[in-house]
Amino acid sequence: MSGDAILKVAIDAPVMGTFDYLAPAGTSPQPGQRLRVPFRSGKRVGVVLATAKQSALPASRLRRALEVLDPEPLLDAPLLALLDWASGYYQHPPGEVCATAMPRLLRHGRDADTGRLVWQLTPAGRSAQETGAAARAPVQSRLLAALAAAADGLDADALATVAARWRPAARELERRGWVRRRRHDAWERDAGPVAEPAPTPTPAQAEAVASITAADGFQPFLLQGVTGSGKTEVYLRCIAGQLAAGRQSLVLVPEIGLTPQLVARFRRRFPDAGSVVLHSGLTDLQRLQAWQRARAGQAGIIIGTRSAVFTPLARPGLIVVDEEHDGSFKQQDGFRYSARDIAVWRARQLGVPVVLGSATPSLESLANAVAGRYRRLRLPERTGTAGHPSVHFVDLRRHVATDGLAQPLVAAIGRHLDAGGQVLLYLNRRGYAPTLMCPGCGQCVECGRCDARMVLHRRERRISCHHCGASRPVPERCAACGGELFAVGQGTERLEAALGELFSGQPLVRLDRDSTRGRDGIAQRLDEVASGRARILLGTQMLTKGHDFPGVTLVGIIDADQGLFGTDFRAAEKLAQTFVQVSGRAGRADRPGEVYIQTLFPDHPLLQVLVREGYERFAEEALAERRAAGWPPFSFLAMLRAEAVAREPALAFLARARAAGEDCDTTDLRLLGPAPAPMERRAGRYRAQVLVEAASRSRLQQFLATWRERVAALPEAGHTRWSLDVDPVDLF
Ligand code: ADP
Ligand code: ZN
Repeated sequence: MSGDAILKVAIDAPVMGTFDYLAPAGTSPQPGQRLRVPFRSGKRVGVVLATAKQSALPASRLRRALEVLDPEPLLDAPLLALLDWASGYYQHPPGEVCATAMPRLLRHGRDADTGRLVWQLTPAGRSAQETGAAARAPVQSRLLAALAAAADGLDADALATVAARWRPAARELERRGWVRRRRHDAWERDAGPVAEPAPTPTPAQAEAVASITAADGFQPFLLQGVTGSGKTEVYLRCIAGQLAAGRQSLVLVPEIGLTPQLVARFRRRFPDAGSVVLHSGLTDLQRLQAWQRARAGQAGIIIGTRSAVFTPLARPGLIVVDEEHDGSFKQQDGFRYSARDIAVWRARQLGVPVVLGSATPSLESLANAVAGRYRRLRLPERTGTAGHPSVHFVDLRRHVATDGLAQPLVAAIGRHLDAGGQVLLYLNRRGYAPTLMCPGCGQCVECGRCDARMVLHRRERRISCHHCGASRPVPERCAACGGELFAVGQGTERLEAALGELFSGQPLVRLDRDSTRGRDGIAQRLDEVASGRARILLGTQMLTKGHDFPGVTLVGIIDADQGLFGTDFRAAEKLAQTFVQVSGRAGRADRPGEVYIQTLFPDHPLLQVLVREGYERFAEEALAERRAAGWPPFSFLAMLRAEAVAREPALAFLARARAAGEDCDTTDLRLLGPAPAPMERRAGRYRAQVLVEAASRSRLQQFLATWRERVAALPEAGHTRWSLDVDPVDLF
């Protein structure tokens, strides 16, 4: 078999590296084509990443691929290069990285062509029909006649009306080369309404659009503007320019289910652009079709969440990452990539501008702007006449909160409702109460499998663990002493009940994961708020995701102290972002807004800086602290995590791993740990970690490449659950 090319194939398996195969006889598959290959004792679908002259495997062990699935490469060279880079950067198996980038049907080997299957005459078939060559086979000749009259071919339904037993005849015609099958993709785009006119841009918007439009090739922008300052409008204008030039725009958003308004706005503005929206409600086939339309260049706008960053683009022109600070851009398990960071890498590779937009940019992006690597564009003012909301602290040391609500906030709610405003209340804790306690012995009801307390869900009469999902009926009595149990603390369900009593008759919408099962649940609730029917809106983190509620005039933060003393070095940043995002919902339209913050620590420096001087000032101070402490973005981290059913094996594995790390070149980097995770036990497993901190990204990358190999070679590695997280966002 000498001379046969060796195919380097990525297969969705937890193995670092590719697998070598020989091409099926008579074929020469190219990088980007899929193959069906024998794998262990079964068959798998793989993607050719490269071809080579030689293999490290002895010829006797080289197997031949069974089938080439694509007539031409499905993934183009730039996309393959992106996946290869991501696999190396995140130290993750290339096969699993490729799997992330492909719709499920393609991973499972389905025909990539999604069009309707039609049968068509070939030129040979046409002459056969004209000369009556099939006259002695009546079904065949009827089919030929029908096909001769149909320029675009006929599908199975149409052929069935020609002859009931048409399939064997069609097969025979195909065998004789008179008929061929092909896919015909008729994309029925939404017959959209007439495009909604764009508002006249403000001077700041016009300047931002001009800068982005003028970018010649790769250029990252940080578009910083308070909520309601018109960032989305800037994206829309830049996208309009791309569409006019025949180029595609890729728009990444945190959670599509939570932002139906945004998607609707894109569709209204560009009814003919062929927007595709990659959301979790698509069927597998719809997802593949959307992917193909992006790949073929038919889709002018591609909107999607995290994994959409890998969508193939025929004519890329612009990448947008909306709410770039949002934690959902980082995948937290398996292939732990950051879609925001990959978006910037991809924009560089494609030579296109990338816009990172946020009212509360991540400290990483701000540092890049300060260093001049990203160009900063500011939208300082809100559109319309809306001014900045006025902020009041409710000092919980002086005012007792009943069911989570202190008197000054209750009074403010009443005032705003009377004035016709809507009220938004933020509490990032679902359920009725976070704790069930026995006052007799002081015990709380714990999850048996996590280091966590069970949360009371009163309406369902159950308690559940928000970490592992365990759930059981509410216990009657304290298991330790038989005393009566009391619900301590507030969740959204309890707040809802309290508001229902205080403001009975005022329509209320609760937005959290319990109240919004299913996508329609969210859309319908958001509609009730947007239309003004709902007067009080109460919810968790879901409220912070860029919704536009023009009628909201009062925002109440029920418990500012949650997270004020977090252990993670990013705790302050996240808290500040949430505050500013939630407060930003107040008074977006023409009415002045008010924000009430309930806290035991009104003098806390973080709250004071945020309220008095704003997010940017906060961020400056936070960056100075990070620099002094040597945290990112002034250092670069990776986390090796391990878990086991007992504490010892996880720690022992990590101790070995750390020792293996000490044997590598550790110039300019530090290894910390092993240490138990902040919440050590979760779902019955003990978790621990080793942190690597490096002075530069390249040092970290060099180290990880050798370290990962040595860790994988440890005898314990085979029977320990472990993972490597590069640029971790949560340090637990
Ligand atoms: P952001 O994305 O920063 O939250 P949006 O682009 O959603 O801001 O704008 C907030 C509101 O202001 C939207 O209702 C939008 O239609 C409106 N808007 C944006 N730009 C303008 C403008 N130049 N003139 C009038 N209204 C605008
Ligand atoms: Zn649990």
